[in-house]
Amino acid sequence: MPGSHHRIVIIGTGFAGVGMAIRLRQAGIDDFVVLERAETVGGVWRDNVYPGCQCDVPSHLYSYSFAPKADWTRSYPLREEIWRYLEDCADQFDVRRSIRFNTPVTAAHWDEHRRRWRIETPDGELTADALVAGVGALSEPNLTDVPGIESFDGPVFHSATWRHDVDLTGRTVAVIGTGSSAIQFVPRIQPLVEKLVVFQRTPPWVVPQMDAAIGPEWQRRYARHPWLQRIVRLWQYWSREVTVSGWTRMSFMRHVTRHVATKHLERQVVDPDLRRRLTPPYEIGCKRILLSDTWYPAIQKPNVELVETAVREIRPGAVVGADGVEHAADTIIFGTGFRVTTHPGFDHIVGRDGVNLGDLWREKGMEAYLGTTVAGFPNLFLMTGPNTGLGHSSIVFILESQFTYVLGALRAMAERGVAAFDPRPAIQAAYNLEIQKRLAKSVWNSGGCSSWYLDARGQNPTLWPGSTIEFRRRLRKFDVDAYESLERVAAAADAPAAAAVGTGD
Ligand code: NAP
Repeated sequence: MPGSHHRIVIIGTGFAGVGMAIRLRQAGIDDFVVLERAETVGGVWRDNVYPGCQCDVPSHLYSYSFAPKADWTRSYPLREEIWRYLEDCADQFDVRRSIRFNTPVTAAHWDEHRRRWRIETPDGELTADALVAGVGALSEPNLTDVPGIESFDGPVFHSATWRHDVDLTGRTVAVIGTGSSAIQFVPRIQPLVEKLVVFQRTPPWVVPQMDAAIGPEWQRRYARHPWLQRIVRLWQYWSREVTVSGWTRMSFMRHVTRHVATKHLERQVVDPDLRRRLTPPYEIGCKRILLSDTWYPAIQKPNVELVETAVREIRPGAVVGADGVEHAADTIIFGTGFRVTTHPGFDHIVGRDGVNLGDLWREKGMEAYLGTTVAGFPNLFLMTGPNTGLGHSSIVFILESQFTYVLGALRAMAERGVAAFDPRPAIQAAYNLEIQKRLAKSVWNSGGCSSWYLDARGQNPTLWPGSTIEFRRRLRKFDVDAYESLERVAAAADAPAAAAVGTGD
């Protein structure tokens, strides 16, 4: 493999990488390779092994449209099931043979002379006409730099790098954070530990999860009648899609969700003082709304203490809150989320004129064209790139729109005989102006909270400001005119001629 040239190199085997590989194969393109740093497929669903890990998008919707799974066992999928689903997809669509496991990408440079990407791995270099980065927005743990952390004498780990070798039975555990991950693992570890100290910097809005088992009878029904599953999926899709304007523009539409969350809190927490401490001081939807029936009951257990401050310092055997109060602990678990706008993977990508993507985005903010391509980085396709995240629906829908766009780009390259497409800076700038203008009115920007949706300068480079239908419409066709075409150069003549791309979609 080292030294080889491919039409496409894909990085990562989460939903993005596996799905892109399947769509390429379906389109009759075989000259691709997928580089995976781990030894199995699965992305975040392989890595997040914390107790209670479960998706907050319904099972039937959280799967590829071209690979329905009839035998989901719960209405919200458990992480093991999603992981197995991705493993099964890799086998069913025969993409596993194109995956190189244990192969992290250490650098990727655009070679302007030969008009191709040079991709470095510990095993050597390979080259590609196009590079698809499916590294995931929520893959790099945010290990908050708390002073004194190195002085702590017990186990310290993040929810995404859970240490199952640490037996929590009888321990005094400090949990930092009350986001999607923490509210899932806290109820699971609470019965085991001697004491749990939960540091809550900002209370989240929580609504009932309404999860239920899907029995073998229903699984058989879905297998026998795929149309039935399609109807359920459509219902799940549209019941979410109609809420979009509530988050992007029409604040009155949030009343229903706020009412549901408030009633949930009132039903589960009787003590008015605790209820007050658990009531978020910001508009519902500003941060991700959490689904849980077990969070409020867990934090009211006698062995749990809710501490309403950020963490200021860590000392041997203790965690100190921002108020200066010391809390004894022999284990610390960070539920502090991910480095979304400062993902270190961007620092490995170098485009035209030696511009480093990490440096560029640190200086100017994270931006792309249609969340997929970046001016100055020809033929680089970012899966779930800037402003493709959703607050209301399934990211798999967004990914499938991006797969279609990439196939369109490959097809246009083959038809026009060009080496690469580079988005025109003016078009990318106008696009981002539009997106940011729309986001300014959204609850994510103006709801009175700080979250991983926003970067250090208060811009929102993460979420899509419209319906997923609009996203799909805008990516349905590869818009050649938005791009500068880079002609093939003689030096690249040894590259295999682009094969005709089947439509496939
Ligand atoms: P998160 O939502 O970003 O939550 C991080 C938590 O850590 C917040 O409560 C935050 O407080 C707190 N925090 C961060 N730095 C802190 C500090 N220095 N001191 C004290 N507290 C600090 O992270 P996450 O829970 O891992 O979830 C991230 C995203 O992953 C979610 O939004 C979701 O998209 C996805 N996810 C989904 C699921 C699911 O499908 N059910 C499960 C897990 C994750 P503040 O609120 O004050 O910032």
